[in-house]
Amino acid sequence: MPRQKFIAGNWKMYTTLEQARELARSVAAGVDAETARRLRVAVCPPFPWLLPVGEVLRNTPVALGAQDCHYEREGAFTGQVSPYMLREAGCQYVIIGHSERRHGLQESDEFLNKKLHGALRAGLHVIFCIGELLSEREAGQTESVLLRQLQNGLAGLTAEQAAALTIAYEPVWAIGTGRVATEEQAQQAHAFIRAQIAERFGSTAADSITIQYGGSVKPENAAGLLRQPDVDGCLVGGASLKADSFLAIVRAAL
Ligand code: PEP
Repeated sequence: MPRQKFIAGNWKMYTTLEQARELARSVAAGVDAETARRLRVAVCPPFPWLLPVGEVLRNTPVALGAQDCHYEREGAFTGQVSPYMLREAGCQYVIIGHSERRHGLQESDEFLNKKLHGALRAGLHVIFCIGELLSEREAGQTESVLLRQLQNGLAGLTAEQAAALTIAYEPVWAIGTGRVATEEQAQQAHAFIRAQIAERFGSTAADSITIQYGGSVKPENAAGLLRQPDVDGCLVGGASLKADSFLAIVRAAL
């Protein structure tokens, strides 16, 4: 069975409450029943907007996701958010390992692995981000970086858990820079990731896992990326903040 495409929007630390509500309303209005039958769409607002945006998305085909979580159920972790709280707030998805946390906040592979397991325990679907820095690509280390992030990041996962996972391949040099990976670069990295999943978790998991591309995806470049055989969707940052742009990317996935 062909994999269903999955388009997710990462709103990062943007939007006022009113803008968030309006954006969610417009996105939901643009995803009709036929689109919802053919692909998955989710938006990931900032934490304080999860409940109000969830309210807007109730009974629509657009799913709610969070941008991060802690690995524990509860505890003395000031400022952190439990994956169980996210579930209770209506989230189906959570992004883990975004490069702005890996590199901006020094989150290690091992730490992210704990978050992955915590999120799965809570029943969340995880979008697990990996990707190389520009210096690593230029040094010919792209595959070894991806391999390390997969090996350490996905440690302890069962084949069944791997099959249900979404990996977002996000070359760090393409995030928020306007410099998108070429279709060939994206396909090459995605095929490598799928091959590694096959090696570790078997061919069923590799065939089922969703691999999104992220990094300056725009309506103009989405269709070409999404045509690649191993590109199963997109994680969209900047362009997800405008309903028209995000919906054009959704349509490119049909
Ligand atoms: C992201 O935030 O995951 C991202 C890919 O951002 P942008 O689309 O703005 O590059």
